[in-house]
Amino acid sequence: MTVRLLHLVLRTESDVFVARQRAREVAAAVGLERQDQVRLATALSEVGRTLFNERVGPPATAAEVWFGVDDATLQIEVVAIGPSQAEQLPSLGRLVDSLTIDDGPTTTVVRMSRRIPATAGLTPERLDRISAELSSSAPRTPLDEMAEQNEQLLAALEETRAHRDELARLNAELEETNRGVMALYNQLSDELEETNRGVVALYAELDERSAQLRAASEAKTRFLANVSHELRAPVTAVIGLARLLDDPESDPLTEDQGRQVTLIRGSAADLLRLVNDLLDLAKAESGTIQPEWSDVDLRGLFSQLRGTVRAMATGDVQLVVSDPAPPAEIRSDEVLLAQVLRNLLHNGLKFTAAGEVRMTASRAGGDWLIEVTDTGVGIAPELHDRIFEEFYQVPGRSPTGATGTGLGLPYARRLVTLLGGELTVASEPGAGSTFTVRLPAAGVDGTS
Ligand code: ADP
Repeated sequence: MTVRLLHLVLRTESDVFVARQRAREVAAAVGLERQDQVRLATALSEVGRTLFNERVGPPATAAEVWFGVDDATLQIEVVAIGPSQAEQLPSLGRLVDSLTIDDGPTTTVVRMSRRIPATAGLTPERLDRISAELSSSAPRTPLDEMAEQNEQLLAALEETRAHRDELARLNAELEETNRGVMALYNQLSDELEETNRGVVALYAELDERSAQLRAASEAKTRFLANVSHELRAPVTAVIGLARLLDDPESDPLTEDQGRQVTLIRGSAADLLRLVNDLLDLAKAESGTIQPEWSDVDLRGLFSQLRGTVRAMATGDVQLVVSDPAPPAEIRSDEVLLAQVLRNLLHNGLKFTAAGEVRMTASRAGGDWLIEVTDTGVGIAPELHDRIFEEFYQVPGRSPTGATGTGLGLPYARRLVTLLGGELTVASEPGAGSTFTVRLPAAGVDGTS
């Protein structure tokens, strides 16, 4: 419901000044901001000037103006009596929130409104007071109004200038920031380029180093293969000659000589083992070992190993080779697999003073797991990687006094890798060891 605040009657163009002034007073009283007060007053003044301007068309006889508040909106209603001027009314869209014109044959009704900010806090009582104050205040002369208008114009100009200065300052700041960003960007891309150059150089050096390493490793393998091959013949000759000297059909030796010849034979046999191990490893490393794939019956392989390794087991250690349940077939190289398992069984017997060394085989999905477990001295966890390095032997003698070369496990691991599987260890000092060979039952030769 609209609360009426003020009512005016305009009869001539000079009354429009009063209307303008009153409009500003009403707008200020209901809490519109200064700029909105001026906008609204200007809108009403423009409507009034058009209605009473003879140069535009036949002027209105009179006009009534109502100011009111409805739903937090200041409403102005102008009812002009006389010929229609609706066509000539200027566009006031920017000055007010809403504008409607009802154009009749004898009256023209113009309604304008502007929203009042919520901060104005208009209550019915306050509106009553505003209405009373407006009715009692007298309108000023057109000259006062003109002076007031000039002041407002100056204020608006000043505000525009301030805006322009602020804009110029912001532009300058933006330009400065842009220059800073560009400088930073250039610096970063320079640094990136520098880093990239460094990385490229580093990679080139790395490539060169790996090529050198590869060449050195190949040279080492070639050297080992050649030297061990060359050594094998003379060492075998020494063993043969020592056996000849020891032969009962040869000239009898003194007791001392007999002991010395036995020593020579023992040392030569150790040397031959080392030379053979070296040769095997060199062959595995150089990639010259090609597995001969066939369907291997694990039960047959196990019984063959049981026979050959049993001789090594002493009275205090039991060798148990458990046959896997049939069918126990694996696609593999029987000779290489036998070498690996023999090596693990030998180690088990070498490092176990009492108890047992056991070999079992079981299926785990598409793999065979062959485990060699002993109750021997065990290996500290931090050495589990090292025992697969060439020539590494855990310090301290084997409990059975057997000697070794430190080449068996690295060789075994290479062979298992060649057969498509992996060789791992689980062990604790004093709690025995378990070496596990995991191999794909179907092999990796690509024919099955
Ligand atoms: P070696 O000829 O000395 O047996 P290996 O390469 O076969 O050489 O083994 C390396 C070392 O790993 C051995 O010297 C031994 O110290 C340790 N080792 C290997 N197998 C066992 C085992 N079953 N129990 C305890 N230690 C072992």
